[in-house]
Amino acid sequence: MSEERKCTLHGDQAESWCLYHIELMCVKCQFDDRHNQCPKDTIPAKTEFPITEFDKMNLHQKFRDIYTTALKVKNETSSFSKNDPRKVLENLDLIFRTLGDRMKLLQEDATKSVHDTKEMCLNNCTEFQATAGTVLTDIGKLMKELCEDTVDVARIEKLAKDYKDEADTKIKNLEMCDMKYRIGLRIACLLVPENIATLRQAILESTLVESIFPQVMSTKSGIRFIQTLETKVNISEKTPAITGCTVLYTGTIVLIDSANSSIKLFSESGSFQNEIKTDSPPFDIARTELGICVSFPQLSQIRFYTDLASVMDDKSTRINMKNGKCFGVEYGGGKLVVSCQTSGVGALFGFRNWRFCVFDKDGELTQVIEKDKHGNSFDMRDGYFSYCPYRDQILFLASNGKAKQFQITGPSCLEHLGLLDIKNNKMSTLILSGSTLIACHRKYKLLRANKTVIHLMGSGKTWEMQKKFNGENSGPMSCDVRSGTIVVCENLKVFDDRSKTVHVYKF
Ligand SMILES: [Zn+2]
Ligand SMILES: [Zn+2]
Repeated sequence: MSEERKCTLHGDQAESWCLYHIELMCVKCQFDDRHNQCPKDTIPAKTEFPITEFDKMNLHQKFRDIYTTALKVKNETSSFSKNDPRKVLENLDLIFRTLGDRMKLLQEDATKSVHDTKEMCLNNCTEFQATAGTVLTDIGKLMKELCEDTVDVARIEKLAKDYKDEADTKIKNLEMCDMKYRIGLRIACLLVPENIATLRQAILESTLVESIFPQVMSTKSGIRFIQTLETKVNISEKTPAITGCTVLYTGTIVLIDSANSSIKLFSESGSFQNEIKTDSPPFDIARTELGICVSFPQLSQIRFYTDLASVMDDKSTRINMKNGKCFGVEYGGGKLVVSCQTSGVGALFGFRNWRFCVFDKDGELTQVIEKDKHGNSFDMRDGYFSYCPYRDQILFLASNGKAKQFQITGPSCLEHLGLLDIKNNKMSTLILSGSTLIACHRKYKLLRANKTVIHLMGSGKTWEMQKKFNGENSGPMSCDVRSGTIVVCENLKVFDDRSKTVHVYKF
């Protein structure tokens, strides 16, 4: 006599097994949301399932994993295909319309200026000509009078002085009649940089950049602590020193362990997946379109990894830095920005110069930035920087916690940056995503213990979310806006041998 099997959801008589959930289903179950996207193929409820044979069981688990990934792709793409570029188009339309209006106004102003100046100069010419004519006639008369006996020399001398003043004044002010010159001056006043609204300026002033970037929304649940990662993956390892981190599109968390010369990969759920052993200590990491790029200061080299699954051989492509060591890396919009410490004659005397090197997608050096906008060089020893490709802007956080901005080109619209950079709120890390600032900073409260907080802030402080940092000394940070993941690593003090120093948050 066979025992009657019940379904998991309703407790009704089971008809079949769901091959994905490994659950018994009744007739109703098959139309339930839970099994909506499950395989259409099922097996009868009476079948012995799950499979007990070891090899087959493993294979079934593998199939379930592939099924999960494919489901994710299907669901993600269906949400992507619902995206509509209307907002971007509206923004572009506004930019070009505003720009057009401004250009038209400027053209009208310029044309009017030319006409007005021409009128003024012609009037001046008439007046100057009349004056000159009068002087010419009068002087002729006076010269004749001078030859006569009855002349009153004192009176004529006085008149001569008046006419001289008049003639001298006119000759000095002749440029008031010079039309070309006067028009030149007026146009120069009109075409000053503030009046020539460049396309870039119009873009920065618009909300276009914000509409392109994945939007960060303030959520009711705020920033939630998820877990702390165990970064020591092997007993024989040294205490890891995590100097860089990033979150990939797949949710994979990648850590740079410079103490063990290793690039470590952790799954979204926090379990260790694999590691890429390197021949020199890596330092920093950035996400690229196809993988990651990693800096190696001692080799003066940047490596690009696309195949993160192959742990055996290092198939990375490389850029060699000339004349200096590379430390921080940031990537975006096809550009690689590297913070470099230059070596040279100055280095012999203890002077170290820092600079940003910008490379294009073919690895060609396109720009070197050695000074900030005030002309000062910067010390990036313990500094931290973030690169915003759309604004073509580097945000630099000095080791004293003061944020500086460097515009590679163009102006900035980050007026709210100053809000975080207030006395005693020393920042340790700072990321910019669209109009959202993501920072880690100390928060000093009178009569209360200092604490470090993770701080998300919308444009102009329209909204903000804060969460106390679980660790001690906040260091490298990475944020994936799409999956709402923030990873913050602790900077270890000397003789500190903890290995659980990487904290994961979601928002
Ligand atoms: Zn059921
Ligand atoms: Zn199912």
